[in-house]
Amino acid sequence: MAAPLLTRACGRVRGALRPQAWQQLHTIYQSVELPETHQMLRQTCRDFAEKELVPIAAQLDKEHRFPAAQVKQMGELGLLAMDVPEELGGAGLDYLAYAIAMEEISRGCASTGVIMSVNNSLYLGPVLKFGSEEQKRQWVTPFTGGDKIGCFALSEPGNGSDAGAASTTAVEDGDAWVLNGTKAWITNSWEASAAVVFATVDKSKKNKGISAFLVPMPTPGLTLGKKEDKLGIRASSTANLIFEDCRIPRENLLGEPGMGFKIAMQTLDMGRIGIASQALGIAQAAIDCAVTYAENRTAFGAPITKLQGIQFKLADMALALDSARLLTWRAAMLKDNKKPYTKEAAMAKLAASEAATAISHQAIQILGGMGYVTEMPAERHYRDARITEIYEGTSEIQRLVIAGHLIKSYRS
Ligand SMILES: Cc1cc2nc3c(=O)[nH]c(=O)nc-3n(C[C@H](O)[C@H](O)[C@H](O)COP(=O)(O)OP(=O)(O)OC[C@H]3O[C@@H](n4cnc5c(N)ncnc54)[C@H](O)[C@@H]3O)c2cc1C
Repeated sequence: MAAPLLTRACGRVRGALRPQAWQQLHTIYQSVELPETHQMLRQTCRDFAEKELVPIAAQLDKEHRFPAAQVKQMGELGLLAMDVPEELGGAGLDYLAYAIAMEEISRGCASTGVIMSVNNSLYLGPVLKFGSEEQKRQWVTPFTGGDKIGCFALSEPGNGSDAGAASTTAVEDGDAWVLNGTKAWITNSWEASAAVVFATVDKSKKNKGISAFLVPMPTPGLTLGKKEDKLGIRASSTANLIFEDCRIPRENLLGEPGMGFKIAMQTLDMGRIGIASQALGIAQAAIDCAVTYAENRTAFGAPITKLQGIQFKLADMALALDSARLLTWRAAMLKDNKKPYTKEAAMAKLAASEAATAISHQAIQILGGMGYVTEMPAERHYRDARITEIYEGTSEIQRLVIAGHLIKSYRS
């Protein structure tokens, strides 16, 4: 397979598609120098987002339309399998690169950001980490180029934060596993060609009775629920997966029996870096919008950027964004250096998601009435930001993870 375009682009493209619109914006960041390869990657992703996503993001949101052509292009660029080795069809980059790319794509369109994040971290992540060589060949490579995408099915109607209480069951029957139950809120479900599904094989063992399975989609015994009508990220699909005597081959067990909860938790550690980066992109887009508007809006005879009250808001927004970005890059670099990063990923997601919500709230305030209507993107950023505090562990769950690690560190 040819090296993904993104990998090659890193070597030769430095702003080949120089942005016009975003160059005019006052981007308030980058106090830390990234390696040159990552700077080039950022520029490539920024150019792609500006050219392919920014012009259509509002329409995709309005029509709840999946960006199929753009997802295919992203696959060709290597953006859908960023840390997958090149021999398996991926871009062979690191998680810092993934964080940077996720931010830029989400800055252009947050829905496209979550589609990318789910394929990279939640679907390919666990297969790459826990799959056999044969499983990687079958379930990774076809999902790297944008022809097929995957999803991750952990939550259920009766339990989200308490994922260990899974009630979907998997029963061995000859050479098959038979799945029954309902998985809820599954991102990418309507477009996915496969899912990593968590089901209990022994409820009495609680967390330790959960296993992970690779499920092809569509497949007999699996039906999709209706698409949820969401507040934000409306161009990505979210729906239930309903299993009724769904038989999947015995060899589709991912990892060892009873390892599912561990697989889910380690996958969410990776995913949280992606969602933190999505939140950074949304927050950056809100700042871009607020500064550009404020420079051009006159009140009391001068641009409102001359007002100290507006400047204070902008300063707080920039501070929250840069703090969250540094936490996110730290978590990504810890992962790249094979160091523990569970607490740091939780901190990154918590800081970035709360920053995105606060920043997009203030962006609307700075735009005044124009912040409240769909003519300007500020209201979309505000709606898109909110989910980042909920999925892949709510802010309350991130606080529990952080506090748990903190307290433990004092005991040992
Ligand atoms: C748009 C969208 C996309 C999603 N995509 C996916 C996906 O692709 N795959 C997937 O598996 N899931 C997905 N989810 C599910 C998501 O991860 C859950 O909604 C989330 O984990 C919260 O679970 P819940 O909704 O059941 O809330 P609950 O767990 O019922 O929580 C309700 C409230 O109680 C709080 N709470 C719960 N437990 C504690 C505690 N111990 N201490 C303090 N507070 C607590 C929560 O923080 C929250 O405020 C998605 C959800 C949405 C909305």
